[in-house]
Amino acid sequence: MHLSRYNLLFPVDEKGMYILMNNLSSAMDIVDDDVVDILRRVERGEKVNNGDTLTTLKRKGYVFETEEYEEKYLNYRFREYEQKIKMSLPVFYLYPTYACNLRCSYCFQDHSARKNVVIDDQCLHAAFESMDYLQEKSPSKELPYFVIFGGEPLLKSKRQFEVIKKILDESSNRGWKPKIVSNGVELESYVDMLSSYDLEFIQVTVDGPETMHNKRRISPKTSGTFTPIIRGIQKAVDNNIKMAIRINVDAQNLALLPELARFFIEQGWEENKLIVPYMAPMRDISCMEYRHRLPEHVALHQIYDLYRNYQEMRVIHLIGWVGAEIFRKALETDQLPSPQFKFCGANMTRFCFDLKGDVYTCVNCAGVEEYKIGRFFPTLEIDESALGQWRNRSILHIPECKSCNLALVCGGGCTKLAAEKGEGIGRPYCTDVGEVLSESARYYYPFLKERPEGEHHR
Ligand code: SF4
Ligand code: SF4
Repeated sequence: MHLSRYNLLFPVDEKGMYILMNNLSSAMDIVDDDVVDILRRVERGEKVNNGDTLTTLKRKGYVFETEEYEEKYLNYRFREYEQKIKMSLPVFYLYPTYACNLRCSYCFQDHSARKNVVIDDQCLHAAFESMDYLQEKSPSKELPYFVIFGGEPLLKSKRQFEVIKKILDESSNRGWKPKIVSNGVELESYVDMLSSYDLEFIQVTVDGPETMHNKRRISPKTSGTFTPIIRGIQKAVDNNIKMAIRINVDAQNLALLPELARFFIEQGWEENKLIVPYMAPMRDISCMEYRHRLPEHVALHQIYDLYRNYQEMRVIHLIGWVGAEIFRKALETDQLPSPQFKFCGANMTRFCFDLKGDVYTCVNCAGVEEYKIGRFFPTLEIDESALGQWRNRSILHIPECKSCNLALVCGGGCTKLAAEKGEGIGRPYCTDVGEVLSESARYYYPFLKERPEGEHHR
């Protein structure tokens, strides 16, 4: 018998109890010392007397008859995963400008290179033609997930306002529901126009209560960006536009999250279903050493303490910690862990189109020549070999990942960071995903235990 390579076992804060998880077979269970003892006996090749438990462990994919059988199952799940990606909706990001009206304390962009240039009409036309072509080619029958990104897409200028309107006209004519990622500073002046379109949602960033936010999200022109952003959010929801409020969390603002949560409640936003505040870890997606950045599991440990101690934290959702999502989904939606053979959309179906006519796959690589995978202006020309480097990156193609027990949670790490800080695109980029899982197992255990089905969570 063979113990699955992808079993993950987490001790919890109750003596002799554990959460056992396997992302290859999509299984998650609460188990005790006796079950762990059986797993250890299987690992050592010893005889197991408890036949019923062993049968259950085999049925759930924690134990296989042989290693070859697990390998076959792994390949089967990979083919299934690839097929699912092939059939999933295309994802398009459009960068109408790289210019931005903020100079955030943690921003790694070179602003001298980001002049106030907006995409011209010919290039915009070519971008939509290319998106139409790629959608047509996609086996998916779903409409694309379309994101208007930047730079800052909602800048206060006549030309930019017209361009955004044009983009919304084009996408609406195709039946797409755009999502806009903005810093929110000029949102208020855009709402009247935006409200005549069917938007998926607008995402803006609020990095803490007013003083902290203003210290981090800095405008060279106005004294504080907090107030205009809050006014913009309120006006947007008053006009029936869904808003996602992103909070970038690190050591500088983490302790202030309860205060920010109280502010949201005072605004009456808790009851407003159009508003979703959520926090995401400040990640190192550049080579910049940002001094307030916390390892993800350290931030999460502190955030779980805030959730335990401050009722008001309920209004801020926890999104973006890969290992934590698994437990949250199991609890809230009954979804079991599924294998992640790849890390992000750059390895799947995403294309990013910029104002210069270049195409990328990584959201944070747009504008960086060495990462471009083709052009769309004047005509669409994709460099299949450059694209393949991103699309074919999976844990099965990185030897260290294939033998790593965290692989099917991790997906091999960020491709950009592997290229810039690691040993190259074809190599792993490890993070603290194991520690994130351990922290999350301890936090979610009491909730999982109380679920009506008791011991097993299949
Ligand atoms: S490759 Fe890394 S930086 Fe680029 S989109 Fe994916 S996770 Fe983000
Ligand atoms: S990147 Fe590191 S942690 Fe992630 S699967 Fe590969 S070896 Fe494991």
